[in-house]
Amino acid sequence: MNTIAVIGGGFSGTMVAVNLARLSQAPLKVLIINRGCPNGRGVAYSTQRPEHLLNVAARNMSAFPDHPNHLLAWLRTRVEYADLPDSELREMFIPRRVFGDYLLAVALPYTDPVDPMASVKIEFVCGEAVDFQQKENRSYVILSDCSEVVADKIVLALGNQPPADLPGAEDLSDHSAYCANPWKPWLDSLPPNGGKVLLLGTGLTTVDAILTLIECGWEGTIQAVSRNGLLPRSHFKGIEYPDFPPENPEELGLEKLNQLIEHHCEILKNQGANPAIIVDKLRPFSQLIWQRFTREEKTQFCSQYAARWNVVRHRIAPQIHEQVSGAIKSGKLEIKKGSITKLQPTNDCVTVSLEDGTSIVGDLVINCTGPMTRFSKTEMPLIQNLLAGRQIQSDEMDMGISVSENFNAIDSEGNPSSKIIAIGPLLRGTLWESVAVPELRGQAMRVAQILLEELEPDHARDAAWPSFEEKAVMEYMI
Ligand SMILES: Cc1cc2nc3c(=O)[nH]c(=O)nc-3n(C[C@H](O)[C@H](O)[C@H](O)COP(=O)(O)OP(=O)(O)OC[C@H]3O[C@@H](n4cnc5c(N)ncnc54)[C@H](O)[C@@H]3O)c2cc1C
Repeated sequence: MNTIAVIGGGFSGTMVAVNLARLSQAPLKVLIINRGCPNGRGVAYSTQRPEHLLNVAARNMSAFPDHPNHLLAWLRTRVEYADLPDSELREMFIPRRVFGDYLLAVALPYTDPVDPMASVKIEFVCGEAVDFQQKENRSYVILSDCSEVVADKIVLALGNQPPADLPGAEDLSDHSAYCANPWKPWLDSLPPNGGKVLLLGTGLTTVDAILTLIECGWEGTIQAVSRNGLLPRSHFKGIEYPDFPPENPEELGLEKLNQLIEHHCEILKNQGANPAIIVDKLRPFSQLIWQRFTREEKTQFCSQYAARWNVVRHRIAPQIHEQVSGAIKSGKLEIKKGSITKLQPTNDCVTVSLEDGTSIVGDLVINCTGPMTRFSKTEMPLIQNLLAGRQIQSDEMDMGISVSENFNAIDSEGNPSSKIIAIGPLLRGTLWESVAVPELRGQAMRVAQILLEELEPDHARDAAWPSFEEKAVMEYMI
C-alpha cells in the first residue's frame, strides 16, 4: 500500500489528506505529521477566542472547491445558525474557532471512519518533521525525536513562518515583556496593573490582539506602530463595475496596470463608490499577473505597492472595524507610523526605537509584523535540511519554495522532484495569492489529484475527477 506523508496539519495539509481519501480508489495510507497547533486547525483556526472572526464571508469559505455551499450546509447543522435567513448566513463572518470545528468535522469520516472497511484512513502523527531521506530505495520522513516514517511521497503544507526577529530581539528571548510569536498565548504576560501594550505591525494579527485586549477589559492603553501606519480596511457593500478589468490584464505589465488601476480608482471615488472593488475584480487574475511580471516588476511591486495592496485586499469584518475605530476615537488605541530600528530591554519593559529618533516603551511588546518572508533565512530545521540536501530551492523572490506547474518542488539542479510536493503559503513567491482558503481549497484538491494520478495511473486514466471551475467570488458584500 502506498503511503503519503503530509507535513503540516493546518487547512492545507488536512484538505490535501481529505481529498486524497475521498478520491482514492485503492487502499492508501495518509499520515499528517503535525507539530504545535491542534490537528486540523492550524495557526488561523486554533484560536479559542470568540472575537477572532474569519475575514472572509461564510459563502466563500467552503473547504471544497467543487461544493461551494458546503460550509453553509454544515453551519445549518449547528443550532445557533440553523434558523438564520440564507442571505444573512452567507454574508456572516463566523468565529474562526467555529471554522476550525468545521475542518475537524470534514476530516472526521476519514480520521475515525464509522465503516471498518474504509480503504483510506487518515492518521495524525504528532511531531516535527526535520528531514526527508532516501535509504535503500525507500524514503523516510525523519522526526525531531529521531523516529522515522516511511513515505512514498511527501506534501509540504507547512503554512506561514513565524514573524522574523527584529533587531535587538535576540536579547529579549526570555524577557517577560516581549512576545516574539503573536500566535502563541500572551494574555498571561499582561502586566497586572495596566500600562501600555505595544503592538509591532498594524495588520490582521494586530487587529486580533486589539480585539482580545478590548474583550478582556484591558484597562491600560494600546499603541500599534508600523512603517505605513495603515490598518486593514473594512469589508463593504460592493456595486457592479463592469468597466474593469480589461481583457487579459496579465499582459499589461506593472506600469500600465498601475496606471489603469489609478484611473479606475479615481472614477469610482468620483462616483462615491469604494475603489477597493478594483482589488476584488483583479483577484481571479492576480496569480497570473504575478507570474507574468518580470523579476524587476515583482521587486518593484513588493517595495512600492504591496503594503497598500495588502491593506485593501485583506479586509476585516465591518463589526471588527467599528470596534477598532471606536478604540481609536476613545483614545484607548493609538496608531503610529514609524520604522522600527531596535528593541531593548529596559527593566521590566521593552523600549522600541524608531528611525525618526523617537522611542516607545511598552509594558508588553508583541511582534505582529507578519510571517517572515525570507525563505532561505528560515529557522525551520526541515526547510534548512531540504535546502542543504539540495532537494528543494527558493523561488526567484526568496519568498518560498520553487515549484513546477504541478506543485512539485524544484531541486537545486532545476529538476522537478518526483517525491516532494508543496502547497499553501510556501508558494507565495510563485503565485503571490496563495494564503487564503479561496485559493488553498483548489490547490488542495489539485494536489490530491496529481498524487493519485501518479500512484493510481489506471484509475486516473478513467477517472472523472470532480470538476471545479471556481467562479470569481467577490469578497465585497452583496
Ligand atoms: C491569524 C490568521 C487568521 C487568518 N484568517 C483567515 C480567514 O479568515 N480566511 C482565510 O481564508 N484565511 C485566513 N488566514 C490565512 C490562512 O493562512 C489560511 O486560511 C490557512 O489557514 C493556511 O493553512 P495552512 O495549512 O497552509 O497553514 P497553517 O495553518 O500555518 O498550518 C501549518 C501547520 O503545519 C505545522 N508545521 C509546520 N512545520 C512543520 C514540521 N516541520 N513538522 C510538522 N508540522 C509542521 C504547523 O505547526 C501548523 O500546524 C489567516 C491566517 C492567520 C495567520
